[in-house]
This record gives sequence, C-alpha cells and structure tokens, in this order.
Amino acid sequence: KNESSWLARYSDNIESRYLRRLDIITELKRALISEQSELSMVYQPKIDLRSNTVKGLEALIRWNSKELGFVPPDEFIGIAEQAGLIEIVTEWVINQVIVDTSTLREAGHPVSIAINLSTQDVENSALLGRFFEKLEQFELNSSDVQIEVTESDLVADQNLAIQNLDALRERGFKVAIDDFGTGYSSLAYLKDLPVDVIKIDKSFVLNLSKSIEDQQIVNTVLKLADSFNLEVVAEGVEDEVALSLLSEWGCHYAQGYFISRPLPLPDLLKWFEQTPYC
Ligand code: C2E
Ligand code: CA
Ligand code: CA
Ligand code: CA
Repeated sequence: KNESSWLARYSDNIESRYLRRLDIITELKRALISEQSELSMVYQPKIDLRSNTVKGLEALIRWNSKELGFVPPDEFIGIAEQAGLIEIVTEWVINQVIVDTSTLREAGHPVSIAINLSTQDVENSALLGRFFEKLEQFELNSSDVQIEVTESDLVADQNLAIQNLDALRERGFKVAIDDFGTGYSSLAYLKDLPVDVIKIDKSFVLNLSKSIEDQQIVNTVLKLADSFNLEVVAEGVEDEVALSLLSEWGCHYAQGYFISRPLPLPDLLKWFEQTPYC
C-alpha cells in the first residue's frame, strides 16, 4: 500500500510539473504577442565601492501573467530556452532595455546596463547583429552594455563559449561571468576565458556577515580576480556589514537589496533623486 501511494504521488508530481510547463509555454507565447504587456523590466542599481556612486544597472525581466499570476524568471527562462522561445524573449528584453536606457540618458542618468543572455542568445549572431543595429539607431554605445552569461553555461562547452565571448567583445560589449562559484569550473580556466568581470554568486554573499566559510571564499575569489585583472561584482548584498567587508577587501562593485531592490523605471527615476550613491 505504501509503495503504491508513493508511486501515485510520484506520478502526480511528474504530471503536475508537466502541466505547469505546458501552461507556461502556452501563456508565454500569448504574452509575447499580446498588446497589453504582461512582461516588464526592472532595474537593479550596482554601486562602485571606491567612490560610492552608481556604476550601472542590471536589467531583470518580470512576468505578471493574467492566467498564472507572477511567474519568476528562474522558472520561465529555462522553459523558454527549451521551448525555442528564448530568442523572442531576449529580443523583447533588448528592445525594452534600449528604450529605457535612452529615457534614463535624457533624464540625466547615463548609466551602463547589464543584460542577462542565455547561451543560445550568445550563439545567435543574427540576434546580436540586430542588438548592435538597435544600439546604433538609439545612439548608444556597446561599451555601455554588459553581457552577463552564467558560469554553468560556460562550463558546458568551453571552446564554443570562448569563441562567442570573443565575438561579443569584438563588438565592444563588456562580458561578465554570472553566478561565479556555482558552476564547478576549474579556477585555472579563468585565464583562458575572454571576460572582463566576475559576479560572485549571491549564495556566497547573503550570509557574509555571519559565515566565516563564505568570507574565506569571497576573499579568495577577490584575490584570484585581482591576479587576473578582472573586475568583481558581489551580488546579494543585504546588510551593511556585508557591504563594508566587501569594500574593505577591495571588491569593486556591489549589488543587493541593501542598496536597492530591482525597480521599475518610474521608481528607479525617483530612486536616483534621493539616493546617497551619487
Ligand atoms: P541573476 O542574473 O543571478 O540575477 C540576480 C537575482 O538575484 C535576481 O533575481 C535579483 O532580483 C536577485 N537579487 C538581487 N539582489 C538580491 C539580494 O540582495 N538578495 C536576494 N535574495 N536576491 C537578490 P530575479 O530577478 O528573480 O532573476 C533570477 C534569474 O533569472 C537571474 O539570476 C537570471 O539568471 C534570470 N533572468 C532574469 N532576467 C532575465 C532576462 O532578462 N534574461 C535572461 N536570459 N535571464 C534573466
Ligand atoms: Ca545576472
Ligand atoms: Ca546570480
Ligand atoms: Ca542566475
């Protein structure tokens, strides 16, 4: 009896996950062609710890589905990749980010913006070509754009990754390794990777003020990055102690709820008016 109920629960679980996936694919397709936009962008400020000023923003997608409610990007981006929808999602992100970047510029905030790309996007030269044209059309510079690619994606196919990252940098984009420390890469491969920035994953930063282990990891990454002349961003800074430790250790940039949550553009414009980081 026990065994069969275990099996029943197991297959129920598979079935409900399968149905959830189908719902997400159907609704995301609808959202991508619909006029009333369920998709939106939020922007999280990143500060320079040496000058205590805003260094740039990270663009993060949000999806408030009429049918499914709020669906987090961690859930739907992976499904979009597998379902062949990521190119359309990324195209939407790029267009929105470029419009918002020029709005910010006109409001007197000429900041650089980081965009998250999946490996499929990085391999899609047609998409990157359109990205580049769009930047020119809005008189923005590719050096104002950072591309964030996650470490685990890079580890999956290192040769391919190196070629594609080179191509991005030739176009003038700065490249950051996202979620650094979670991809089980050999540290030695850092010297071969054509990147400019390392983003230390938030799992090592969230408890920095309390965890001696995390302090040691972050310290080691900072020393390593320094020896390779890479810039470092710490993400997931949630308290003042973490912020001052990072600053003391020479980390260049910090991002996290302590500084600001990711904000929709109108809120970001207000944030700029009252932030001490200017
Ligand atoms: P990520 O690129 O590593 O982004 C950092 C995540 O940490 C974001 O979650 C952000 O809201 C959250 N975060 C920032 N500061 C803090 C903090 O102090 N504490 C905590 N606990 N969390 C913090 P979000 O926005 O839910 O995004 C999750 C992931 O979804 C991103 O991880 C990224 O991999 C992916 N993603 C988001 N937007 C896009 C996009 O436009 N395109 C692609 N391809 N992926 C995206
Ligand atoms: Ca990121
Ligand atoms: Ca991360
Ligand atoms: Ca991530």
